[in-house]
Amino acid sequence: MNGSLIVRLSALLVAAMSLGVGCSTVPETGRKQMNLYSSQEEMQLGLTEFSKMKQEVPASKDAAANAMVQRVGKRIAAVADLPGAQWEFVVFESPEANAFCLPGGKVGIYTGILPICKDDAGLAAVMGHEVAHAVARHGGERMTQAQALSTVGQVGGALLGSTKYGNWAPLATQAYGVGAQLGVALPHSRAHEAEADEIGLLYMARAGYDPAAAVAFWQRFAEYNQSRGGANTAWFLSTHPTDAARIAELQKLLPKAEAEYRKGK
Ligand SMILES: [Zn+2]
Repeated sequence: MNGSLIVRLSALLVAAMSLGVGCSTVPETGRKQMNLYSSQEEMQLGLTEFSKMKQEVPASKDAAANAMVQRVGKRIAAVADLPGAQWEFVVFESPEANAFCLPGGKVGIYTGILPICKDDAGLAAVMGHEVAHAVARHGGERMTQAQALSTVGQVGGALLGSTKYGNWAPLATQAYGVGAQLGVALPHSRAHEAEADEIGLLYMARAGYDPAAAVAFWQRFAEYNQSRGGANTAWFLSTHPTDAARIAELQKLLPKAEAEYRKGK
């Protein structure tokens, strides 16, 4: 791509942003977000990514684990605001303590997180959180942010490239990438984490699981992190908020979620 084209593209992007093109509102929190991708585009990416994962990562043959994930997944799906979702819940055989929900309602739970979930309510906390990321369209929003950042980075590199400092251009673009990770991209990811916690707590409560189980789950997760020695050393590079901060936030949100839980009883 040549310099003038990049400049024109970034001008277009800025214009689109100021006109509110691609602006949408996150359910439950009411936050306004900038997303250049349509729900259909996001969903297509999610479906493609999920079928790739199913080819690459083996599915668990543990009948009890599969039954638990289907049982909890159905109840969370029933209360989630994800129009057009093609719900699917797969237990992947992997020691990683992780889970995800891709746009389009494709949910993956790694066997490594199940002992930390402990029971249905613990799993509901995880699933509510992951489904909330998809409902709030965090993937599309993050891709939009990354696109804006890389456009700005390329403009900087292109401008330097056309001067006597031309040799420094690749370095400048690279340095911008690192800065974006630490200074710009990271706070957004943490905001997304907090938002998914908030929406997820409401979802698990509406699905009939006591939201207090989310606090207990994150406490167990913090112990797991500590036992692996990772949580404290690299916390600033992690996309997750520190465990203590997250637990404190959840405790603040608990009364509202508990009220929703009791309404359904
Ligand atoms: Zn998350």
